[in-house]
Amino acid sequence: MQNLLNKVRIIGDPVLRRKSRPLVFPDDMPYIVSLVGTMEKTLEAAEGLGLAAPQVGESVRLFIAIPDYLDELNGHVVFINPEIHPYGDMEKREEGCLSVPGIYEMLSRSSRVNIKAADIRGNIFSLDVGGLAARLILHEVDHLDGILFVDKLSPIKRKLLKGRLRKLREGGRVY
Ligand SMILES: [Zn+2]
Repeated sequence: MQNLLNKVRIIGDPVLRRKSRPLVFPDDMPYIVSLVGTMEKTLEAAEGLGLAAPQVGESVRLFIAIPDYLDELNGHVVFINPEIHPYGDMEKREEGCLSVPGIYEMLSRSSRVNIKAADIRGNIFSLDVGGLAARLILHEVDHLDGILFVDKLSPIKRKLLKGRLRKLREGGRVY
């Protein structure tokens, strides 16, 4: 859990492809507090919008959002063991990911999501979210199941990105 700052895992790292385990209350609480602290610093340094635990190498079901979304997320920034129900019309938005640096693509996802999760103290809460915050939640929950947004692009788009994705996997950043 040390020196994770600025070490966001990049596509090609196997931890991004694992299905993460649920966290347990109260046993995991000290670990959760430490992990969230690390993730908040990492997210701030990386200037992303959200960050899932696998992106810092921890295979557990937790993600965070930046405080800019506090209103839409009813004051929540930490989501543990999330359960989601996406609904509403499909909506196209540009998406990117700290683990797939330099690649931004339009992607269709449900426009709204119902989420139930635990906060850092283990209290369960539910939210009904739309807009960018819904997009963020759907993107981050995919990370917990080993899915990256580029997996969801059309075969044609994926083919076009093949070379750049391969370079990222091999360790070189491509912008
Ligand atoms: Zn991501």
